[in-house]
Amino acid sequence: MHLWIQPCGPCADLYGQPATAEPHEALTLNGAGAVKDARAEAHYTCLQCGGVFARILAGPPGRQTWMLLNAGQH
Ligand SMILES: [Zn+2]
Repeated sequence: MHLWIQPCGPCADLYGQPATAEPHEALTLNGAGAVKDARAEAHYTCLQCGGVFARILAGPPGRQTWMLLNAGQH
């Protein structure tokens, strides 16, 4: 089941940014165990719109970005 969200402004801005960018203030870090390898990626949930981000911390530099996992597609 997919629950698509409509990203709020700060989430839309963060989407696609390098992983070095800081999370915006409505994002909360999901608890340890949310991902298999916390050194490779961190997951955040937005309290405002319910968006779930993966902050990719490992791999090729071009892949280390903020990815929105449940954004609606048009
Ligand atoms: Zn949001």
